[in-house]
Order: sequence, then structure tokens, then C-alpha cells
Amino acid sequence: MNFHVLTLFPQMITDGFHTSITGRAMDAGLLSLETVDIRDFSHDKHFKVDDYTYGGGAGLLMKAGPVCEAYDDLVRRTGHKMRTVYLSPQGSVFTQKKAAELAKETDLCLLCGHYEGIDERALQELDAEFISVGDYVLTGGELPALIVMDAVARLVPGVLHNGESAETESFSDGLLEYPQYTRPEEFRGRKVPEILLSGDHGKVDVWRHEESLRRTARYRPDLLAAYRNAHPDEKMPEDLQERPKGGGCS
Ligand code: SAM
Repeated sequence: MNFHVLTLFPQMITDGFHTSITGRAMDAGLLSLETVDIRDFSHDKHFKVDDYTYGGGAGLLMKAGPVCEAYDDLVRRTGHKMRTVYLSPQGSVFTQKKAAELAKETDLCLLCGHYEGIDERALQELDAEFISVGDYVLTGGELPALIVMDAVARLVPGVLHNGESAETESFSDGLLEYPQYTRPEEFRGRKVPEILLSGDHGKVDVWRHEESLRRTARYRPDLLAAYRNAHPDEKMPEDLQERPKGGGCS
């Protein structure tokens, strides 16, 4: 999978991606990363890439010209257009499902805005899909791009050594992952749940699924409601069964 990032701050992207699992995957040739400095496509003698907004208002906006020329150059070099994501607080909120969808692409272009964002015409020219990393505003699209790239990269076959771990992780089946433990068996008086030491894989699976349900009920009741709708016949653990309505005081 090849990531192409259009940005004014390429070092943020390379520093962030060349570490740990994604760095190793690049060394192994499973991923590649190219950063394109949008400033290289400025025609201004001071390499300016932003200007005041028409209609007034605070702040500066990235100009359409350098962004489009950076993208055109990318298309020329790779020989084809590619799916392009504009990181924006106005986009649909990024999900594991979207990560899985993007992981199917061979080339993915990520466009990072800065200042007040980017001239609308550039976004139209690139036919960019807007993706947000949450309902808050950051100073630039570089951290969001790294978030998207990281979530996508770990779904590329071979990037995680144990393919299973991506399948059992939070969100993969609509639930949060169960609690996990490693050695020692007892830490500050807290013991690893007995069932995990039993060697009975069937019972461990049941325990883990029930703990996933409990954890999801506690932290993400919205996800549990969706899971229940999708699995109407599944019997919930007793503590998660809804109490009958109008039962009076007890
Ligand atoms: N004026 C824009 C608005 O109100 O929608 C916000 C611009 S923001 C200060 C600058 C850049 O940061 C954006 O162009 C975008 O690339 C990035 N950004 C900020 N918050 C983001 C978020 N929640 N998700 C994805 N990208 C974000």
C-alpha cells in the first residue's frame, strides 16, 4: 500500500510514520510513504501558499494553485489518479469500517489542510472525500492523516505479525475488546481472572465475549444498542438484561 501525503509539514508525517510497526512494515516493503511539500508548488517569491479569504473574516486560507499543482505532479509521476482524502473536521467521522475500506486501495492520497483550511475549488478539483477524526478542531491535518494511515496500515496483510489480533480487536465485531492480562499472575493484590488460567479455550471464549459485551455496555452503550439490534436472538449475560419496565420500587 502506498501513502502519498500532501502537506505543508512533511517532517511531522515522516517522523510519525517511521516508528514502530509502521516503520518496520515500510522496511519490509509492505507500505511506502511519500510526502509532497505543497510549498514546493508556490509561485510566490517568499513561497507563500495562503491568502486572505474573499468576503472577509479572520485567518488565512491555503490557495488552490499550489495544492492542485502538487496533486497534478503526483498524478504525473504515478501515472494515475487515486482516491484522495481531505482531512477535515467537516468530514464523516473516521471508523474502523472506513479504515478497512481504505486498506483495499493500492495508492491513497491524503491532503492536510492548515490555517483556515483550503480553497474549496482545490477540493473540488481533487474530488476529495472529507474525513474527520472527531468533533473538535486541530491546527492542521497532519495528526489526523497519521491517525488514518496508522489505522489503515495495520489492516494491510502482513503488517501485523499475528493477523488474528486485528480481527478480535475493538470495533471489528461491533464491540469493544475484552480486558487482557499478562504476567505476573498477581499484581498489587489483583489476580488474573481464574478462567484465563484454566486452559479451557471454549470457556475462555465465552468469558471474553461476555466481558466484551459488559465493557461495551459501560463505555459505549450506543455500540451495544446497535449490536443488540444486529443480533436479536443472542441471549445477553444476566447483568445486561434490561429490567422489566414499570416494576415499581424494590
Ligand atoms: N476552518 C475549518 C473549519 O471550520 O472547518 C477548520 C480548519 S483547521 C483549523 C485546519 C486544518 O486542520 C483543516 O484544514 C484540516 O485539514 C485539519 N483538521 C482540523 N481538525 C480536524 C479534524 N477534526 N479532523 C480532520 N482534520 C482536521
